[in-house]
Amino acid sequence: MRVLTVVGARPQFIKAAVVSPRLREVAEEVLVHTGQHYDRELSAVFFDELELARPDYELGVGSAEAAVQTGRMLEALAPIVAAVRPDWVLVYGDTNSTLAGALAAAQAKVPLAHVEAGLRSYDRTMPEEINRVVADHLATALYCPTPHAVENLRREGIERGVVLSGDVMAVALRRIPPDPEVLARWDLVPGGYYLVTVHRAANTDDRERLGGIVAGLGALPGPVVWPVHPRAQARLSAFALPLPPNLRLIPPVGYRAMITLEGAARAVLTDSGGVQREAAWLGVPVYILREETEWRELLESGQAVLTGTDPARIAAAVQAGAAVGRPAPPTDDPVTAIVEDLRRR
Ligand code: UDP
Repeated sequence: MRVLTVVGARPQFIKAAVVSPRLREVAEEVLVHTGQHYDRELSAVFFDELELARPDYELGVGSAEAAVQTGRMLEALAPIVAAVRPDWVLVYGDTNSTLAGALAAAQAKVPLAHVEAGLRSYDRTMPEEINRVVADHLATALYCPTPHAVENLRREGIERGVVLSGDVMAVALRRIPPDPEVLARWDLVPGGYYLVTVHRAANTDDRERLGGIVAGLGALPGPVVWPVHPRAQARLSAFALPLPPNLRLIPPVGYRAMITLEGAARAVLTDSGGVQREAAWLGVPVYILREETEWRELLESGQAVLTGTDPARIAAAVQAGAAVGRPAPPTDDPVTAIVEDLRRR
């Protein structure tokens, strides 16, 4: 079996790093890096730290408006799919790289496998929602992280090829230990700071929303550490938003540093899908800087609370608190479920 895997963004490197070694025990994997994320701190650090195999192809598409970026990826992927002649194209999550991989597979009549299938925000103004809906509707094998994801697909009429595999992000978290040096590097003490990430276009590209988040963070009673995604950094500068004194902007960090910062935070405020799950699994209260989440389980357990981007609502939600039960990350074995299912097909 030959599998052409398409990755391009930070969370995909983390997920592929978990699946790829096992996949390579049963299949020949050809890895394509689209270049959607290209800064060292969003890309190369994860290949080094998580020992992800070097890509066989690097498309180097770089940043661009979604249509242009996806178009460039598709144009570059088509001859690669034709040359490699894979049995499967494998994509992860919901980025433009996911969309391009899915379309390239469909156009070449190669079956598509989608890891993290079935997630929905039901907000089609989100580029990620479009990407995941298209990928799911083109996929032959759909690996769902949660029962809600299976149900979402069923409601769209997709039942064939659906597997409740569990969440590969939980495997990464189980596998990598925290780094004891990290807190000292930023002069932090456990429970003594809030941790923030913001990267969704709806939050970074809207002055009022980004300003609301920044103001809400300014009202928190303690230092706020924010590893800033380049998109958010560019907008913070462009909008010339005044930064409150408790805010500490740091560059994006590697995976091990990130999960260490999450696990020792008093609370995590984020619009990231990965960060909200990790923080919850680490027993840290989570405040989601959005009006909805694809990870409804976290709301149902009370571990995560939706705050939107209104400053008063953010501050009030953090003051009211969220449940801090400590569910271990799911203990199922998503990697085996995915690899064995692909092999059997
Ligand atoms: N992450 C990281 N360094 C950072 C910020 C995030 O390693 O500075 C990790 C985080 O722990 C999680 C993943 O990146 O595993 C989440 O990626 P992102 O927020 O970009 O995407 P999403 O999960 O929303 O798709």
